[in-house]
Amino acid sequence: MKILVINAGSSSMKYQLIDMTDESVLAKGNCERIGIDGHFKHSTGDGRVFETDVTMTNHTEAFVQIKNALISEEYGVIQSLDEVSAVGHRIVQGGSLFSESVLVNEEVIKGIESLIPLAPLHNAAHVQGIRACLEVFGDKVPEVVVFDTAFHSTMPEKAFIYPVPYEYYEKYAVRRYGFHGTSHRYVSHRCAELMGKDLKDLKMITCHLGNGSSITAIKDGKVIDTSMGLTPLDGIMMGTRTGSLDPSVVTFIAEQEHLSAEEMDTMLNKKSGFLGISGISSDDRDVTAAAESGNPRAQLAIDILEYDILKYIGSYTAVLGGVDAIVFTAGIGENQSSHRSSVCHALEFMGVKIDDQLNEQMIRGKEGKISTEDSAVAVYVIPTNEELVIARDTMALVK
Ligand code: AMP
Repeated sequence: MKILVINAGSSSMKYQLIDMTDESVLAKGNCERIGIDGHFKHSTGDGRVFETDVTMTNHTEAFVQIKNALISEEYGVIQSLDEVSAVGHRIVQGGSLFSESVLVNEEVIKGIESLIPLAPLHNAAHVQGIRACLEVFGDKVPEVVVFDTAFHSTMPEKAFIYPVPYEYYEKYAVRRYGFHGTSHRYVSHRCAELMGKDLKDLKMITCHLGNGSSITAIKDGKVIDTSMGLTPLDGIMMGTRTGSLDPSVVTFIAEQEHLSAEEMDTMLNKKSGFLGISGISSDDRDVTAAAESGNPRAQLAIDILEYDILKYIGSYTAVLGGVDAIVFTAGIGENQSSHRSSVCHALEFMGVKIDDQLNEQMIRGKEGKISTEDSAVAVYVIPTNEELVIARDTMALVK
């Protein structure tokens, strides 16, 4: 069975075609700058690459590019679209409506649309992706939606209700939802597998550290808390996002600078975090390089990030009542061994011991344990694979 995984953004559409017989990636690519000037990149599992500038006025036109590439003589991986058994879509916001992956029908599309106020850019784009797929494939190819929020739907009320007047929860569904759920789900199950244990018997903290970052506490196989909130702005500091703040910082700066709610939203989401503190870049690699050459603000940005990670691991260890395993994943978690080292050495008080050499080697897609045999807590680096989870869920539902 071959499954096409789609991640539709407002101006981009990423895809992977996965052969479920061995879970290999047959082809992947990205339609970028949809509705602007347009760029398309497609690469195959055996190393063929096709790249072109092409105008795509909407997601349906982007989907046609994907279709043509998949069946092209030179860069194709299938003979015809009939070989695609199903399509799985990544959906950012499932709200309280969707606590698991489901097959797409008109009611499901309406449900995703009804959540647009909670994730205006993302959910609107996802619906465009689903409709584009329906136009190109017709309704004979089943579609499945997999939600970033679903894995977090097990959180207890005390973790997801914000202490603002309760009526805002009732009126607008303002609450913590959490994001990156598909990634936390993948790495937590994979970690349990590597440990030879059942996830239900483990207390685990999973750290998804990338451009956007979130940390999740898992007990009895269920999420009990996660750092992102109503939106992906909450939690630890990120590439361009603040993470958690005293809410008065927002009202104070807005008043002083005469900024509107929209302008504040842009400042908090796009101009803060690594970029805002360092003044150099949102990219960890650039900021780390600047810090190494003595830039004090770049160093400060790194210190804040490592401090934030440490604080979340500390507080989640308390809410879990101990921790058996800590997992690092995503761009920074998988590659920046220096942050892992700082955080883990600071956790020595609770028996965390890592092998520094192993830690330095565990980069660029390598998977494995970086803690020593006598460490009280197992520490793993596990490359995330959200597309594979989407494909597996899609296959399970279609079957
Ligand atoms: P993501 O959002 O998961 O793609 O992660 C993006 C972040 O990961 C950026 O801050 C990058 O600096 C960092 N990153 C990605 N790849 C590497 C790498 N090979 N080495 C170090 N950092 C990386």
